[in-house]
Amino acid sequence: MAIAFVIDASKCNGCYNCQLACKDEHVGNDWTPYAAPQPEIGQFWMRVEEQVMGTIPKVRIHYLPRLCNHCEKAACMESCPAGAIHRREDGLVLIDPGKCTGCGACRDACPYGVIYMNAELHVAQKCTGCAHLLDHGSKMPRCVEACPTEAILFGEEKDLIDEIEGAQVWKPDTGLHPRVFYRNLPGTFIAGTLYDPEEKLIVEGARCLLSNGGKNWEAVTDSFGDFWFRDLPAGIYELLIQAKGFAPKRIYPIRNKNSINLGDIPLERE
Ligand code: SF4
Ligand code: SF4
Ligand code: SF4
Repeated sequence: MAIAFVIDASKCNGCYNCQLACKDEHVGNDWTPYAAPQPEIGQFWMRVEEQVMGTIPKVRIHYLPRLCNHCEKAACMESCPAGAIHRREDGLVLIDPGKCTGCGACRDACPYGVIYMNAELHVAQKCTGCAHLLDHGSKMPRCVEACPTEAILFGEEKDLIDEIEGAQVWKPDTGLHPRVFYRNLPGTFIAGTLYDPEEKLIVEGARCLLSNGGKNWEAVTDSFGDFWFRDLPAGIYELLIQAKGFAPKRIYPIRNKNSINLGDIPLERE
């Protein structure tokens, strides 16, 4: 048996219910041997990450819930000199607060930054997958139950095969084989506004041709003079602009890493 979380980024509206539910379940509550109480401040076993792409006024905001990945090759577990971290048969990776010496080796070994040190109790802490609930009759962790849009799914991998198909993991190059899968991660965008500096008017209906490595995209400026290319991979792009009555314009290189607003682009009359 192997459990998995599947998070659909397109369904997350950033309400933070999952983050709050996790706090409600663990702050001040002693679930030893699964976990010692989480302190009131400083720890986020579930953390909703806000991703801002582009610049004003062309900005897109996305939300990604982040938690321990319960990795198949858990670096935290391998680094612990006290043998305090184990992977259960169901795949959940737990830190035993009774064995943890608070040395911090696991926090340093985890490339995802999801382990926190509890200075008062001298233990390392992180998401437990709400194993204390699962072992006592609950089918779902608190964060999953709390999500109003069903953006977070949890279950056995064999029951989530369709959802996991084509999904991505956080930092796949760590090689740790995370058990938290992300669907519909937002791609980047390139956008801008075309205008005629002589008439001080926006240019509607212009043809914008974008290319990168043999791939091509086409967009037409709208009634605000705006063009948008969405869901693009990162890379170096070339943009060609063709508008009736104006000289063609080429913009190169456009280095697109995390979305680009090219701003107001003047066109010269022919
Ligand atoms: S995400 Fe970090 S803390 Fe969680 S299992 Fe993987 S290595 Fe360990
Ligand atoms: S599974 Fe439980 S401990 Fe982990 S993030 Fe969700 S609510 Fe928090
Ligand atoms: S509860 Fe659901 S919709 Fe709200 S922030 Fe968490 S994952 Fe997103």
